[in-house]
Amino acid sequence: MSEKLQVEAIQQGTVIDHIPAGQGIRILKRLHLESAGKRITVGMNLPSKNHGLKDIIKVEGRMFTEDEAHQLALFAPSATINVIDDYEVVNKFTMQLPDTLEGVFSCPNTNCISLNEPVKSFFYISNKTSAESGDSVVKMRCKYCEKSFSKEVVVAS
Ligand SMILES: [Zn+2]
Repeated sequence: MSEKLQVEAIQQGTVIDHIPAGQGIRILKRLHLESAGKRITVGMNLPSKNHGLKDIIKVEGRMFTEDEAHQLALFAPSATINVIDDYEVVNKFTMQLPDTLEGVFSCPNTNCISLNEPVKSFFYISNKTSAESGDSVVKMRCKYCEKSFSKEVVVAS
């Protein structure tokens, strides 16, 4: 199957493409996509021209909010969102890291009051480029305990 067909095989909805292999299921759970009652197709370990292997999520009959796209950016900064209407890609956008993120991830600090108080988690997000490797380094600082964590730690906890 060509890459084009993989993307366009739904009539109306959203295709999240170029998800790093292995992250698809995580994204599905984190965004609670499965509970919306929509038809969802997940492709895992599909060949990707640029990234080796990739995951892909197709959600029929549902568009993504900007907020959801921001959450997604933490798992899959290289992903693209394709908005499909009548089997055509009518809009396509890439992920952008948000400046702040509320209520998605729990604070990894087990002493943090956000874990015991009825408040939503809240992180300030910064993105710097490592001088050594040139890779981007995403840090998340908790508003409540003011500790800073790498994105990987927050996403995995
Ligand atoms: Zn905290």
